[in-house]
Amino acid sequence: MDKIPMKTPLVEMDGDEMTRVLWALIKEKLIEPYVELKTEYFDLGLPERDRTCDRVTVEAAEATAKYGVAVKCATITPNAQRVEEYNLKEMWKSPNGTIRRILGGTVFRSPITADGIKCIVPGWKKPIAIARHAYGDVYGAVESGVEKGGKAYLSVCGADGKERERILVHDFKESGGVAQGMHNTDRSIEAFAECCFSYALTEGLDVWFGAKDTISKVYDRRFRDIFAQVYGRYAAAFEKKGITYMYSLIDDVVARVMRSGGGMLWVCKNYDGDVMSDMVATAFGSLGMMSSVLVSPDGKYEFEAAHGTVTRHYYRRLKGEKTSTNPVATIWAWTGALKKRGELDGIGELSAFAARLERATLDTIEGGYMTGDLVPLFGKEGVVPVSLTSEEFLDKIAEKL
Ligand code: NAP
Ligand code: MG
Repeated sequence: MDKIPMKTPLVEMDGDEMTRVLWALIKEKLIEPYVELKTEYFDLGLPERDRTCDRVTVEAAEATAKYGVAVKCATITPNAQRVEEYNLKEMWKSPNGTIRRILGGTVFRSPITADGIKCIVPGWKKPIAIARHAYGDVYGAVESGVEKGGKAYLSVCGADGKERERILVHDFKESGGVAQGMHNTDRSIEAFAECCFSYALTEGLDVWFGAKDTISKVYDRRFRDIFAQVYGRYAAAFEKKGITYMYSLIDDVVARVMRSGGGMLWVCKNYDGDVMSDMVATAFGSLGMMSSVLVSPDGKYEFEAAHGTVTRHYYRRLKGEKTSTNPVATIWAWTGALKKRGELDGIGELSAFAARLERATLDTIEGGYMTGDLVPLFGKEGVVPVSLTSEEFLDKIAEKL
């Protein structure tokens, strides 16, 4: 068989620990035998980030802006213990944070579902993708304690520096307490809406957005209005694709999601997304089955697994043990990137290969072969699940492929 050719290179960002091990195996066993793989390789492993004073992360992000599609391995975000473990020059920032600051955009997370892997919410037959607005609100807020008898005000100045409005937040005459000031910007909300509608259109998903504009008549109302405005530009395309946009109150959206069969993009304000993405991920089972993609407002894509470097398994591996670490989300990072590259470069074969690799992976699981994390979640009549090491599992997928 001839290998499938590529035109534009993928930006490849290697990473750390157990996921770095899986990374090499996935390439060797599942991709390189079939694809004439072309990548711009950046080693985001912690030793190389330290050696380059984190320049390599910035270069990888810039390459993504240039080429448009990246695939990223999980990476260590250093803390004090890691500074010691790796003898680092500095406590380097989170690579994901750095990349997001350079590219901008929204992170979409969606569970990977396989027949037989039970969802805790029995009605959720299709995956629920979550978009979290990763800017502002309580994450960028200022706060203060206020003593009894004190007062808190919200003071707003115009462009001329003169105070336009001074609103009493609370008169603390009965008791001391706390006050908080938070913000968001039209530009960030608009870019978020843009990313969400364009992602939904590519993926063919209905969009559900919830906020609390009955209570927050200016703040949350602004989100609702901007979304409606941006949707105006997408309405015709949505209709053509047969998908819809719905805005409702956040509590109503929560109730509807619980009753639904899944299969939508749930758009969340920052705090809601933080909380709800953990709920949805847990309901769908293993962290090893959650994929993630960063989409920038100008249409650049960075695909990765939602989990970290699986340190506990890596330390066991260093002791010579074979681990059963789930490679599925990392495979999905590769297939997502290859599909997108194929789509952008008009190489149908490449996209079809990626879809086939996903199918082979799901068939392997559905046939009863999986990593240990999935075994307790598996229930299919007539199939007894077998727990494999990562290598054995990848070999099984390769066989299917
Ligand atoms: P983690 O790597 O996601 O692992 C937490 C636990 O979840 C594991 O110990 C394992 O549980 C389970 N798990 C996660 N992925 C799995 C998989 N593919 N297969 C099987 N089990 C899986 O989170 P962490 O231990 O908190 O973080 C480790 C490192 O990753 C940290 O240095 C952190 O900075 C980094 N991190 C990176 C990213 C990223 O690059 N996007 C995201 C998060 C964290 P059991 O041990 O019980 O089997
Ligand atoms: Mg959270």
